[in-house]
Amino acid sequence: MKIRTLETVVQHGLCTGCGICESMSGRESVEMRLTSFGQIRPKVKRPIDPARLDEVLKVCPGVEITGPRPFPAGEAGVLDPVWGPIKSLHRVWASDEEIRFRAAAGGALTALGRYLLRSGEVQAVLHVAASKSEPALTDAKISTTVEDVVEGAQSRYGPAAPLVHVKALLDQGLRFAVIAKPCDIAAIRNLGRVDARVGTQIPYCLTIFCGGVPTSHTAYRIAAYHGLSPDELGLFRWRGHGWPGPTHIESKNGRSFDLSYDTTWYDPRVPWTYDIQFRCKICPDAIGELADVACPDGWVMENGKVTVQVSSCGDALCGRIVALKKPLDKHGNPKLDKDNPDPALRNRPVIGLTLFTSMKQTGNNQWEGRIYVPDDGNTYDAMVYVSGGIMKVKGCVVVLCKSKKFVRIE
Ligand SMILES: Cc1cc2nc3c(=O)[nH]c(=O)nc-3n(C[C@H](O)[C@H](O)[C@H](O)COP(=O)(O)OP(=O)(O)OC[C@H]3O[C@@H](n4cnc5c(N)ncnc54)[C@H](O)[C@@H]3O)c2cc1C
Ligand code: SF4
Ligand code: SF4
Repeated sequence: MKIRTLETVVQHGLCTGCGICESMSGRESVEMRLTSFGQIRPKVKRPIDPARLDEVLKVCPGVEITGPRPFPAGEAGVLDPVWGPIKSLHRVWASDEEIRFRAAAGGALTALGRYLLRSGEVQAVLHVAASKSEPALTDAKISTTVEDVVEGAQSRYGPAAPLVHVKALLDQGLRFAVIAKPCDIAAIRNLGRVDARVGTQIPYCLTIFCGGVPTSHTAYRIAAYHGLSPDELGLFRWRGHGWPGPTHIESKNGRSFDLSYDTTWYDPRVPWTYDIQFRCKICPDAIGELADVACPDGWVMENGKVTVQVSSCGDALCGRIVALKKPLDKHGNPKLDKDNPDPALRNRPVIGLTLFTSMKQTGNNQWEGRIYVPDDGNTYDAMVYVSGGIMKVKGCVVVLCKSKKFVRIE
C-alpha cells in the first residue's frame, strides 16, 4: 500500500504522535491535537503543498523506519544479535544526587542533557516535560538552561509530541540535542536524509527504551480514582523520586496522593490499564537502536538485594537479614527499620532484623507463618517454599499476594 496522506497514516494506526509533520508543514497547515481516544494526532487544517507532503511522508516514522547503519570496517563495537550495534554498555546514574533521585531511572539522560548544554556541545535540548496548564499531559520543551533540562527529568506515560519545534530550531541555526522516544529519534534520522542541516545541528540523539505510550485517559482515570477532576490537578508525576517511585498527584488545593508503581501497573483491581496505541504493538525499534545513547530501566533482580540467613529453630524455620546490597540510605547512614509500627523499634538497623521466627512446616519443603517486611513495616501471612537452590517467599494481605525469590548462596 502506498501511503499518500497523513490521514492515511493515522487511519491505519501507524501514527506515533511525534509531531514532526506539524513542524515541517507549519501549524497553519497541520496541528497536533489530543483526540477523543486520548492520543495526540495531526489535524490537517489546509492542504499541504505536494512537494512538502512528499518530504513529510519520507520523514514520518509511521511510514518509514530505516535500521541503524552497520559499523564501517575498523570501527569499534559489537553487533549484538538482540540489542543491535553497541559501542559500549555501562551501568550508570547521575552523579548529582538530586537529579538521580528525581529522574525516572537514575537520571543518566538528564545528566547527559545537562552536560551537553553546560559544555557548549549544544545550545538547546529538545525534550518533553509535564504540561504547565494541564499537569496530566505532556508538552514539547526547548531547554536552554540546565534548570530547564532537569525539569524534564522523569518518564511521562502518556502522549507527547516532542518534535513540533524541530524545524523552528533548525531555522534559527541552533545546535541542539534531542532526548525522546525511539520512534521520535527515527523521525530525526529520516529528517537527516531530506535536510542536510540535521547532520551538523542535531549532533546528539538520546533515547529511552520504550514499552509503548498509554492514552491520556489513563492519567485521568488515575486522577479520578483519587477523586480529582482534570481541572483540580496541580501536579501529575508518573514516577521518579525513588526507583521506580510512586505515581504522585497533587491537587491545586494542596492534597497529595501516591500510588506505588506496582499498584499503578500490576494491580488488576485498578480501573485503568496500560492502553497503548496500535503503533506501539508493531514497534520496529523499542530499544533505540537509532539513537546515540539509549537508557533503559535498570531492573535489578531480587536476588542480591537482600541476603537472608535461614536456619531451623526447633521444628520451625527462622530467617534474618544479614546483608543488603545497598546498606546505606540516601544520607549515607545505615538503613534503619524506620517504618516499624512500634516507634521504639524504628532506630534498629535493618541488617540483623529477624524476618520470621516461627514458620511451621506444612508440607514437603513448605512452611507457613508470619513474616515481617521492613520495606513497609507490616507483618504478613506468608508461605515459604524451598526447591533446589531457590527459596520462594509468598506474602499475602487479604487476597493480594506477592512473591519474592531468593537464591541459595553457599
Ligand atoms: C512511555 C514510556 C515507556 C517506557 N517503557 C520502558 C520499558 O518498557 N523498559 C525500559 O527499560 N524502560 C522503559 N522506559 C524508560 C524508563 O522509564 C526511563 O525513562 C529510562 O530508563 C531513562 O531513565 P533516566 O532516569 O535516564 O531518564 P530521565 O533522566 O528521567 O530523563 C527522561 C527523559 O525522557 C524524556 N521523556 C519522558 N517521557 C517521554 C515521552 N513520553 N516522550 C518523549 N520523551 C520522554 C524526558 O523529557 C527526559 O528528557 C519507558 C519510558 C517511557 C516514557
Ligand atoms: S507519526 Fe509523526 S509525522 Fe507521522 S503522522 Fe504521526 S505525528 Fe505526523
Ligand atoms: S513503543 Fe515504539 S512506537 Fe510506541 S511510543 Fe515507544 S518507540 Fe514509539
